[in-house]
Amino acid sequence: MQQRSRAIDVHTHLNTPGPQPSEEELERAIRTARYYGIERLVLLGNLTAMGGPDPSMADVAAINSHTLRAMARYPETYIGFCYVNPAHPVSFLRDEIDRCVVQGGMKGLKLWIAVKATDPRLEPVMEAAAELQIPVLHHAWYKQTVFIYNESTPAEIAELARRFPEVPIVMAHLTGCGARGVLDVADRPNVYVDTSGGQPESGILEYAVGQLGPDRVLYGSDWPLRDFGVQIGRVRDADLPADVLERLLWRNAARLLRIEEDAP
Ligand SMILES: [Zn+2]
Repeated sequence: MQQRSRAIDVHTHLNTPGPQPSEEELERAIRTARYYGIERLVLLGNLTAMGGPDPSMADVAAINSHTLRAMARYPETYIGFCYVNPAHPVSFLRDEIDRCVVQGGMKGLKLWIAVKATDPRLEPVMEAAAELQIPVLHHAWYKQTVFIYNESTPAEIAELARRFPEVPIVMAHLTGCGARGVLDVADRPNVYVDTSGGQPESGILEYAVGQLGPDRVLYGSDWPLRDFGVQIGRVRDADLPADVLERLLWRNAARLLRIEEDAP
């Protein structure tokens, strides 16, 4: 067993509906995360309980306000990402990104399944990310079964990355993307992958680091849909050197999110 590195989790949600984040859920998230040495949580929004696959403008505003309240309640833990639905009018997209990122201190944008990654309506969203120099975390998955709504594949993420090479894109769910997904984005240096998605799979993380290098893989759990313990265990116990694990668990995310790197 290697010495334990502290961690930033780049992929978490909350799942209790309501205008205010549930204090019980926030406390449970932070208590459990701390137990595993996870110090910072990127909060991508309460997407499933409050919006669904194609959220309205009111849904998006409510989800982002929910995230802002969690950030205000636990600023030392939560880093918010602004959730957007590119099907909305450009003026609303711009105003919401301004409210959440410029004024609210969020550090990235989150795209889910409302429209495909190849949809031209992503343009103003990606332009805002480029202007603000913030990353975009985008849902991705390869499925044998039916895709949910406008779910994107890793090949479509690679296409988005080609169109916007200046924007860092975190492709979510390594295990959902698989080896094929890793190869799809391998020659796009602005694409990172988070380690979440399904159950741990032997060898996939080592494969991703081998193909993408140690700087383009980031630990993420997808809590509370998945457990912190199982999801960080797959990283900590991977067959990788300690300095690579430290990059996956902390340094890569710290660089992308511009978090000051004090000595561990
Ligand atoms: Zn998620």
